[in-house]
Amino acid sequence: MTADKTEDQTAGSFTENLSMLQMIELDACTQCRECLNVCPVQEVTGNPAVSPPEKIRMFREFIKATAGLKSRFLKPKEIDRKLLEDFTKAVFECTTCGACGKHCTVGIFTQRLWPFLRKEMISRGLVDFKILTDMPEAIRNTGNPYNLPAEDRYHPWLPAGITIAEQSELAYYAGCTGAYTAQPMVKGDVSVLNAIGDPFTMLKEEDEVCCGFPLFISGQHDMLEDLTRRLVTSYQAKGVKTLICSCPCCVNIMTREWPVFYGKELPFRIMHITQFVLNALKQGKIRITAGLKTRLIYHDPCYLSRGVGVIEEPREILRSIPGVQLLEFERHGLNSRCCGAGGAVRKVYHENAMAMGRLAIDEAVAKKADRLVLSCPACYGKVNEAMVGHDKQIPIVDIMELIAGLLERKQI
Ligand code: SF4
Ligand code: SF4
Repeated sequence: MTADKTEDQTAGSFTENLSMLQMIELDACTQCRECLNVCPVQEVTGNPAVSPPEKIRMFREFIKATAGLKSRFLKPKEIDRKLLEDFTKAVFECTTCGACGKHCTVGIFTQRLWPFLRKEMISRGLVDFKILTDMPEAIRNTGNPYNLPAEDRYHPWLPAGITIAEQSELAYYAGCTGAYTAQPMVKGDVSVLNAIGDPFTMLKEEDEVCCGFPLFISGQHDMLEDLTRRLVTSYQAKGVKTLICSCPCCVNIMTREWPVFYGKELPFRIMHITQFVLNALKQGKIRITAGLKTRLIYHDPCYLSRGVGVIEEPREILRSIPGVQLLEFERHGLNSRCCGAGGAVRKVYHENAMAMGRLAIDEAVAKKADRLVLSCPACYGKVNEAMVGHDKQIPIVDIMELIAGLLERKQI
């Protein structure tokens, strides 16, 4: 590495990627450490060096050294490279689950803060996780972060006989993780939508590109405006007024960040599939008559519950199944514990992710649930992975996969 390059990485302002509110939030942390009690990374590593207050303390030091009063008059300090590397590790080991923010005694919106601290490290070239840095190119080439062929996006799971309208006020966005890695889930989504009977449209496989979420949370924001505009314009051209999606991460970025990147209010509303399906149940468009004498436990995805506040809808759907007894994790709703799938680098911090997934499995088994119900493709993949080789086992099912099965049984 050249001397110039090193200097680029260790000097210069650390505030360029932050809003005024985020600067105030960094300043507001009292180091009370309350958030450590709810952080899943703390729970599985016990390492306070990767805790929220430590990350905030370090970042404040970087700002002070490079943008404080002294640095205006004297030559700004270079930050010790080891400190920067430690910080980078800490901010990427986080799953961005947002639990710390919900419990923060001064109300710091951490779920949105961490991606911007990551962005600073990315912009300094301090992040060398190939899985992340290869992502923009993969999305540019194939439309998805997995670098899988665009033409394979739908056909392995989209059931024959599902009618996709050319134009409609209603659209379904499958999302990359669902389409490529959690196919029972997206198959369940379209099966339930088809049973509801309202015409819905989908983009062509090559047009349904990544929503931008993995780029956003990994701090790689350059392509986000372009991806947002492409998708919004494509749905607008189809006359869409409601866009339905089952992936909490997609719903989250569409709701929270797309208006920012689009530059104004979106021309359609975003709904999580459980919100849409619950309405359809209430309107009598579908009925679940098949009984299921079983004990289900539902895991709240971080970006759905804490992210956009969808908590009751999945529960109401599950309670509407005759015979179901719905159990709760000790930590649920706004307080739910991350299953380990979040953060965009779960492959790098694989052991943490497995340990978190197994905490969910162990609790579901201890509560004598018959099935663990999920509503997120990332959770679906990670908890299934955590089950492999684990001494406790429980069947896992996606909520729409479950409902689609019951509707099919009803029709037989
Ligand atoms: S977002 Fe989640 S994993 Fe990250 S520091 Fe906060 S509680 Fe821990
Ligand atoms: S709860 Fe909030 S103020 Fe307290 S240490 Fe955590 S981030 Fe800082």
